[in-house]
Amino acid sequence: AHSGEVGVFVRIRPTANFSPDLIECLPDGQTVNVHQRKDPKKPQDTKRDQLVYWSFRLDGVLRDVSQEEVYARVCQRVVLGALDGYNGTLMCFGQTGAGKTYTMTGSTESYKQRGVIPRALQEVFREVEKRTAHFFSVHLSYLEIYNETLVDLLSSLQSSPRSSPRGMVVTEEPGRGVFIRGLSLHPVHSEEEALNLLFEGGLNQMIGSHALNRNSSRSHSIFTLHIESRSRTLCDDKYVTSKLNLVDLAGSERVGKTGSAGQIFKEAMYINKSLSFLEQAILALADRRRDHVPFRQTKLTHALKDSLGGNCNTVLVANIYGEAAQIEETLSTLRFASRMKCVRTNPAVNECSSP
Ligand code: ADP
Repeated sequence: AHSGEVGVFVRIRPTANFSPDLIECLPDGQTVNVHQRKDPKKPQDTKRDQLVYWSFRLDGVLRDVSQEEVYARVCQRVVLGALDGYNGTLMCFGQTGAGKTYTMTGSTESYKQRGVIPRALQEVFREVEKRTAHFFSVHLSYLEIYNETLVDLLSSLQSSPRSSPRGMVVTEEPGRGVFIRGLSLHPVHSEEEALNLLFEGGLNQMIGSHALNRNSSRSHSIFTLHIESRSRTLCDDKYVTSKLNLVDLAGSERVGKTGSAGQIFKEAMYINKSLSFLEQAILALADRRRDHVPFRQTKLTHALKDSLGGNCNTVLVANIYGEAAQIEETLSTLRFASRMKCVRTNPAVNECSSP
């Protein structure tokens, strides 16, 4: 990834049914070619003239890549930038099951399989200890967006997640940028404290989903570190702030209108809506002739307004299956990823003065 551009990576979930003749990763490590059968009903025929062909060039193709390498290649630069005062956003996009949560949070099965969030937390607190010339303060929030409702996964009633009774709202203030009024912010002083909150938020999300009989892959979650630093040596009132957003988006699969009813239909409508508006916002950001970007149409785009383009180091991981059966969703994920690649960013340190 280069500064000034969104970094876009594709990660392929390793499954036994990987179809190298349909999903071809070029040796340059940056290109994925997709060959789709013209008539999916016909038996598999890989003769090239039977295929429609697409080529996607991204910043990296992550196939059979360890969690450690994903962090090092995709996330580390953004985390270190956040400690220097640059906003950072890392977002996972893709159909349900393609590996978004595995990438973000990882698997609890082994330490080696922890995802980018726990690795980012480890790095942040290591750096805070190392950078002794500065005094850091770190706060953490964990927001879920479900059917256009904001849910605080770390609300003060720790036993059950709830949408704030005061009603949370996405707000903007000059100097402070976009923030969620009513969302709880938790001071954290160590990796362990932060990990406990990550775990607690995840648990709350699970309990909440279960109680409401829904699936957590149907919601967006935004885990945010709010970082503030002051020089210990310079006696001035200047301080630097930044936000690091780690975003696990709802499954991007288009749920058909037929055959789904009630809650499932409602969820699908909300997700289709928020992800289409996310795409529209990204298209508008990518088109430099347009000065109006429709951020306010959904809670997701509004909450991410200053985190997608502009003053932010932004990275997208597009999670895909490498299987023939999922080719339509894979193509739609890769199209989204290539649009995202056209978005420009110009990160700048957020310097403030104490009042
Ligand atoms: P999503 O969040 O996109 O719905 P998950 O992250 O829950 O998908 O992944 C679905 C399943 O696949 C999980 O059991 C996860 O552990 C596994 N998985 C996904 N990606 C990988 C990977 N790169 N390596 C090993 N297992 C993976």
